[in-house]
Amino acid sequence: MSAANSEITALRADAGPTTVILLEGGGTLVSAIVARQGRGLMATYRVTDLDAEARAELIAAATPEGVELGPCPLDEARTLLARGLAMARIAQRPVPGWVSEPDALLGDLDAAARELEDVYHCAGCDTPLAPELQLAAARARGAGPLVLSCPACGAGADVETPDPGAAHAWLALYAGDPRRALVYAARAEGRRVPSQALDGVRGAALLALANPVEAIAHLRRAVASDPGDVELRGLLARALAQAGQFASATSELEHLGRTRPSLAPTAGAVLGAIADIDERGPAGGRSRRLSGALAAFANAC
Ligand SMILES: [Zn+2]
Repeated sequence: MSAANSEITALRADAGPTTVILLEGGGTLVSAIVARQGRGLMATYRVTDLDAEARAELIAAATPEGVELGPCPLDEARTLLARGLAMARIAQRPVPGWVSEPDALLGDLDAAARELEDVYHCAGCDTPLAPELQLAAARARGAGPLVLSCPACGAGADVETPDPGAAHAWLALYAGDPRRALVYAARAEGRRVPSQALDGVRGAALLALANPVEAIAHLRRAVASDPGDVELRGLLARALAQAGQFASATSELEHLGRTRPSLAPTAGAVLGAIADIDERGPAGGRSRRLSGALAAFANAC
């Protein structure tokens, strides 16, 4: 941590599910970060980017009537912001680069976010959720109103219960770290989690690491054991297309477009790009068109 960081102090205000952290350095406000329970960082302000009026408005908004702004230990602020950053990553919500600059704010938040064991906490008592509930929250991508509670506080959602090892591997993948996902999968297998319970996450991680050929073997087995899982089928379709196995990719994409109408437009765009390459070869920007269509399809899945 740099000398500048040692002068940082944190203030915290909680208004319902919203937490505001203000960071001060040398007696002046340097940044304000708004986090929402179960959804992570929602707004980030670097105060040097703001004029005086905007700063005053920001502080007023952070502390609506009846909400106390109080001192917050730096460790607590760091953990809260790292969790918020991890949730924003999982939700694929953009976060400005300055938040995770190693010397900014509270040290290397990026590393702290990657090292977290538990991202999502109970809405009631703030204890870490069980792995299957963490995974359910991650799969909701911070999009829905899904805020989960531990069993003691009354779990509100009916979620699948994958093996905790597999759940940790999926969480690492969603947080943007496919290598760590593979390490967790290997560890889970070492604890006798059956390999078929890990095929899905291994395939997804290998695809993320640009190894579609190996991904296909895992994803085919995963889809065979759970044919109704749209996420796995979407991953398989992408792996097949990226590996150039166009006939199989086409039948997967057609199946997805039929069974999940919301995917029909992006699946159709991939089918169009594949047909074009089949007919006229991969040159002339047609490979790039396929890559672009696959990226849009992946976002829609
Ligand atoms: Zn609880």
